[in-house]
Amino acid sequence: MKVLVTGGAGFIGSHLCAKLTGRGIDVRVLDDFSTGRWRNLVNLRVEVVAGSVTDTTTVDRVARDVDAIVHLAAVASVPESIKSPVRTHDVNVTGTLNVLEAARVPNAHVVVASSAAVYGNASGTVGAPFSPPRPLTPYAASKLTTETYATSWQESYGLPTLPLRFFNVFGPRQWPGDAYAAVVPAFAAAAVFGQPLLIHGDGVQTRDFIPVDTVASILADAVEDRVTSPAPIDVAHGTRTSLLELADILEGILQRRLRREFLPARAGDIRHSSGDGSALRALFPGLPPVDLHAALGETVAWW
Ligand code: NAD
Repeated sequence: MKVLVTGGAGFIGSHLCAKLTGRGIDVRVLDDFSTGRWRNLVNLRVEVVAGSVTDTTTVDRVARDVDAIVHLAAVASVPESIKSPVRTHDVNVTGTLNVLEAARVPNAHVVVASSAAVYGNASGTVGAPFSPPRPLTPYAASKLTTETYATSWQESYGLPTLPLRFFNVFGPRQWPGDAYAAVVPAFAAAAVFGQPLLIHGDGVQTRDFIPVDTVASILADAVEDRVTSPAPIDVAHGTRTSLLELADILEGILQRRLRREFLPARAGDIRHSSGDGSALRALFPGLPPVDLHAALGETVAWW
């Protein structure tokens, strides 16, 4: 089996490459290294093509002989999407279209990365089935379009696709300055280097954290079993952990007191974000329950 991973040099992509090669699957990476890193792929037996998903000739060439494509390449930063909406559209939407079109030739199974950002709702609680999509940023709009294309290519061309809405993925190789570098890498780095944990707002806001190793397993199982869905699936455990609880867990792992510094709440910050994990568990019955303590321990150890 041969799998094309677009964005394979990125945070999630590199964990997926390791998972797939560990299962004896041939992997080809297409990445323009705009946010991805060569060192994420060190020691992995993968074929790497440096290029962009916006280049149809390249995409057609790298997709020609694959059984599956995991399409992760994207402008994955909300602030960057606000700064460069047209570039975000080109990479995230036209790039996805290029991948879907290229996949039709070998009838490759396509797994597409969408995001919890499609739910929007800055002030309240997000998470299916409670909230319909309400994209509030160019990034969120591009992701909603991406998943819509994936499902419509199923209907129109019979292409097997699986659109996935990732919630808060965390783990090793995620840097505080990175696109999604939400709270976990920021807290982990601060804790390890003896800095205070910076908490915006009261710290009671919650997130649905999912370890990157779990996400890599889901993606690898999806391509091996050619899992499809006619509708987007939340990649979430359906749990809520507050930032204060996260700080407590880190304290337990490091066995020392960590200073918290409270800053004003950020405009537009989502209060509570949790997904509906039931559809995911139905598709992937072997999904392990979340062990935040163990996964955070691995993340801290990486630092
Ligand atoms: P990342 O920035 O680490 O990975 C994205 C990869 O895509 C990078 O390697 C980058 O170089 C590559 N890329 C960007 N533009 C490209 C282009 N034009 N052509 C080829 N490659 C290109 O981000 P990540 O956290 O690994 O995210 C992977 C996917 O998951 C993205 O689609 C993102 O929107 C989605 N996602 C991630 C999270 C999360 O919590 N990390 C949450 C929701 C959705």
